[in-house]
Amino acid sequence: MRPLIGTALATMLLAGGIAPAAYSSASSVEGGPASRVAASAPRITTVARPLGGKVVVIDPGHQLGNHNFPAKINRLVPAGGFKKPCNTTGTATNGGYPEATLTWRVARNVKRRLERLGATVRMTRHSNRQDRWGPCVDARGRAGNRIPADAKLSIHGDGSTASGAHGFHVIAPTDRRPWTHDIFKPSRRLALDTRAALRSVGLPVANYIAGGDGLDFRSDLATLNLSDIPTVMVELGNMRNPTDARRMTSRHGRATYAHGLARAVRRYLR
Ligand code: ZN
Repeated sequence: MRPLIGTALATMLLAGGIAPAAYSSASSVEGGPASRVAASAPRITTVARPLGGKVVVIDPGHQLGNHNFPAKINRLVPAGGFKKPCNTTGTATNGGYPEATLTWRVARNVKRRLERLGATVRMTRHSNRQDRWGPCVDARGRAGNRIPADAKLSIHGDGSTASGAHGFHVIAPTDRRPWTHDIFKPSRRLALDTRAALRSVGLPVANYIAGGDGLDFRSDLATLNLSDIPTVMVELGNMRNPTDARRMTSRHGRATYAHGLARAVRRYLR
């Protein structure tokens, strides 16, 4: 337990017959301020599993084997009033670390963190393999609609060759009737929470996206257009930039991204 918890709360816990173990797991997960935890001490189980009952879809962009299945990947699929190729190969660092592997590893880390907070997490793919492809962007876009899930994060890494381009940006859907009219407002809120959360773990906002504020609003992405639940796509950084690439290819760097993304979901669903 943290020293800040204090005797007052310990006394309350004992008086209320609440097992201290439930409390200590609450304080260790996302590192929220102890004062906030203390203030809500009577609702201790809610604090321990703040995302209990919530369903979150995590979409790790691309699949490692996409480049081995060009016919399947180039097939056109519905994208929200128009058609687009099923998927792309994704980008890579200059050293050859694939976007599919980055998104897979970060997504798994985010999943573990959200599950510790009590959420149910659905993934849009269940492997990262050279002999697999997809799913297509229309399936990714619809993932979670039927449940319906409470939020969906689509995780990507960008591939800009512009000199010095680095940092993350968050893409949210525009208001496009009838496709995104139902979700564009909560998705914008999810985008703002995601930007704030990634900043809060020390990640820099992209310096190469119009506006320079780390936000982008797009109407051309099936992953966003076909969603009936609040959703954003996150470009964690520019894989072609050496500084971003170093972060993406290290376990610690990926944990930082995952920490930020889990915090984003928690902010949004609080
Ligand atoms: Zn991508």
